[in-house]
Order: sequence, then C-alpha cells, then structure tokens
Amino acid sequence: MRDQLYINGQWVSPDLGGYFETLDPATGEPIQRVPAATEEDIDHAVHAARQAFNRGWGQSSGAERATWLEALADELERSQDGLAALEVRDNGKPLPEAQWDIADAIGCFRYYAELARELDGRQDEALALPDARFHCRIRHEPVGVAGQIIPWNYPLLMAAWKVAPALAAGATCVLKPSELTPLTALELAGAAERIGLPAGVLNVVTGFGGEAGGPLSQHPGVDKLAFTGSVPTGAKIMSAAAADIKNISLELGGKSAFIVFDDADVDAAVEWILFGIFWNQGQVCSATSRLLVQEGIAPRLIERLVEETRRISIGPGLERGVLLGPLVSAGQYQKVMGMIEQGRQEARLLTGGKRPAHLPQGYFLEPTIFSEPADSASIWRDEIFGPVLCVKRFKSEAEALKLANDSRFGLAAAVMSADLERAARLANGLRAGIVWVNCSQPTFTQAPWGGMKQSGIGRELGRWGLDNYLEVKQVTEYR
Ligand code: NAD
Repeated sequence: MRDQLYINGQWVSPDLGGYFETLDPATGEPIQRVPAATEEDIDHAVHAARQAFNRGWGQSSGAERATWLEALADELERSQDGLAALEVRDNGKPLPEAQWDIADAIGCFRYYAELARELDGRQDEALALPDARFHCRIRHEPVGVAGQIIPWNYPLLMAAWKVAPALAAGATCVLKPSELTPLTALELAGAAERIGLPAGVLNVVTGFGGEAGGPLSQHPGVDKLAFTGSVPTGAKIMSAAAADIKNISLELGGKSAFIVFDDADVDAAVEWILFGIFWNQGQVCSATSRLLVQEGIAPRLIERLVEETRRISIGPGLERGVLLGPLVSAGQYQKVMGMIEQGRQEARLLTGGKRPAHLPQGYFLEPTIFSEPADSASIWRDEIFGPVLCVKRFKSEAEALKLANDSRFGLAAAVMSADLERAARLANGLRAGIVWVNCSQPTFTQAPWGGMKQSGIGRELGRWGLDNYLEVKQVTEYR
C-alpha cells in the first residue's frame, strides 16, 4: 500500500500531514488512506522537477530517454494484472476494460520511447531561406517543468498520456491525479522508483483540486500546464496560466453526436452506439451521448437499442460477465441522477433511469435512454458523463449536420452510412476534433486527440502529444 507522496525520488508524508480515504465505488467503503498534498508539497515537487531538469534530464538525448521509457513500460507490464485490479477497485470499471486501459497505458510509454529516439534525428534540421547568406536550423527543446492535472475516468491511461510524451520530450513532471482515483498513479511512481528513474524527473502528488491542483496551476516554477478535466476547472486553469503566460493544453468535456442514416446496417449501428455511450459507464469525454437517427431507420433502430440496453449486465467491476460497473463516486452518482430527474421533464424516458433493484449498495445506475428532447433541453446540451443516451430524429443530411454542430462542445462525432461519399462530406462539415465513420471510439496512440470549441485547446497523442512539451527554436546564422 502506497500512502505517501512521491517527490524527488523519495516517498514523503504530506507537509501538513493530511490524508483522505479513497473509496471503492462498488461498495462506498474505504480502500486506503491517501496523502492530501498542499501548497508546500507542491512547491517541493516543482523544485525537485526543476532541479532534475537542470541536472541533466533536459539535456539528455532522446535515445537515453527512450531507454527509460521502455524500462518504465517493462516495469508496468510486470505488474499489469495487479494494476488492472487496483484500477477496478478505485474507479469501478469492469475488469476487462481496466485490463485494456493498462495495456494501452503501457503501449503509450513504448510509443513515446520511439518518438524520443526519432526526435534526435529531427534535431538541427536545416531550413531553406530565400536569402542564401542566411542559414537556419531548427531545434526542438523541452519545455521545462510540466504540471499535469488529470481526471478519474481513465486513471493510469490519462497519466500515461501526460507523462510519456513529456518525458520523451525531455521535460520533467509533477503529476496530480484525481482525488477520486489516485492509486494507480502512485503505482506509476513506484515503477519509476524501481527502475531508478533519476530523482525529480517524475513527481506524483495526490490531493484535492483546490488545495493541490490550484497551487500547481499557479506555481511560477511550472513552464507548462497540461490539464484534462471539466470545462469549469479548465477555465480556472486557463486563468491561473494567464497570470504568467504559461504554456497550456486543455482536454475538456464533450457532448458528441452519433449520426445514423437510413442506409446504415442496424446491427452494426446498435453495437457501436452501445459501445459509444455505455463503455466506462458513459464516463468518457468522447462518449457519443447525442444520437441522431434518420426517420426511416429510427423505429427499428431504437427498438433494438432499447432491447439490447436492457440486456446489459450491471454489477461490481471484478465480477465475471459484468458490462457496466458503478459510477465513480457518490458525487457523480448524484449529479447524473439529478440530470436524469430533470430529463424526465424534458424528454421521454425509454429505459433505465434508476438504481438496479439487485444492487442496493454502491453507485450503480441502469443504462438509460431518453428520446426526443427539445433542442434546448439540458440533457441534450450539457455533458452528463454517465450512462445516459439521448435520441433525436432527423430528416435530411443538412438537418443532421446542423443539429450535430449545435453544441458548445466539439470533441468527437460519429457517422454511420453505407454511402461513404456522404460520410466524408459529413466528416468534413462536423466541428469536432475527432470524427469516426462507421464506428465509434477507437483510439490510437498514433492519432491526434482533442477538441474544438469548449472541448479544449491543443491535441494529445501522436507527434502532437510530443509537441505539447517541446519549444521550437530557430538558430539563424549570417555567413
Ligand atoms: P474535474 O475538472 O472536476 O477535475 C479534473 C482534475 O482537476 C482533478 O485532478 C481535480 O482534482 C483537479 N482540479 C479540480 N479543481 C481544480 C482547481 N481549481 N485547480 C486545479 N485543479 C483542479 O474533472 P473530473 O470530474 O475529474 O473529470 C471529468 C471531466 O473530464 C469531464 O468533463 C470529461 O469530459 C473530462 N475529460 C476530458 C478528456 C479529454 O480528453 N478531452 C478525457 C477525460 C476526461
């Protein structure tokens, strides 16, 4: 059991000695105590990260850093099963989903090891200028100290999306996991310790948003703030960054549309829709929570969808065969239930909307479908971040596009149609950072991830994820 902060390569108690309990969402019972970092701890962690950056990490070669990232991936792989089980206890998700996430997190460290090596080859590339007396070369330098604040829906995977590209770029990290799911981030620190990663390169500080996240986002020693979470917190991070013009990237919420045309295959559509909204209990930023169905296919599709939704097995994530676990916390449960109650006034409830009778404890909720909400309905416009789907019918391609784009979010969207030309037209017209055609949610470490409008600023993953932690420098010489 890890119940200390990981700062400068050491396990330390929080400065003010505060702890809190992390709870198992399947029971509401405590799992273990976790340190609640405050400003002093954050300050120590940022200083440790700065020293580590200056002591050599920031000047190391990509090839050296690649070796460390591969060692970290190997070390995580050795405890893969334990990590998946711990993730289920802390977050609630079904075990096969957690296993998938942990494997993805490990893959992310391996992928950025490769990119770190390639970075050496990209250093000092010559740039042709129109005046031949000037010679320009381009350098990619690490941004410095990265403050990284992450949510609870994919605890270790979100940590990997932040830490792997930062370390690959030569930045050092202060990572603050969500107070709701801190355990696997502490295990990541444990893996860093076991492989002997130089002290201060990765620091993990657990604690609450205001007391730990706030000081991290305001710390003048942080060069780069990378945040994933809700829009309101993103706005706070952005104003904290404004004080000293910190480099920021934000991955925020979504209310993504899934458009199904009359010519789509009903079985395939039902499968992708269920995956798009009920995976991880709908607690997915890119969850396709707004379903737009063309009139002709709507009766058949909706009937099948409701039928299949009622078959979903709900229970504790460690139980065999479970497809839907509990929501992450009492707070999240109340928030989603509150939105469902409001939804009952705004739309027609087709299925779900209540606690399953056989699960009186924990934060369990039936997968829920509403139909025909008004355009202004809260359940249609606001992010629910739970297993709640809203369905609306449309007549024409133009209407579908207009409805899909009528959102303050722009993270993802999906289109299902046998007509690939139409799907391509839609994909070009959708104001979203990610568009899936004839599928929903596949996520590749190689491809850019992020949103337009209030869904965020910047992109993670792929080479764009590495660029988040690099400064580009031109060196121009007159000969
Ligand atoms: P949240 O904004 O409540 O918290 C996210 C993190 O910010 C936590 O670590 C929290 O402790 C910290 N925090 C809270 N207040 C803070 C403050 N004032 N200063 C600094 N840090 C603070 O979000 P959440 O409930 O953990 O996560 C759910 C949200 O995350 C959803 O909106 C979801 O869409 C979004 N999300 C987005 C992506 C993406 O890639 N776009 C991925 C996952 C989750």
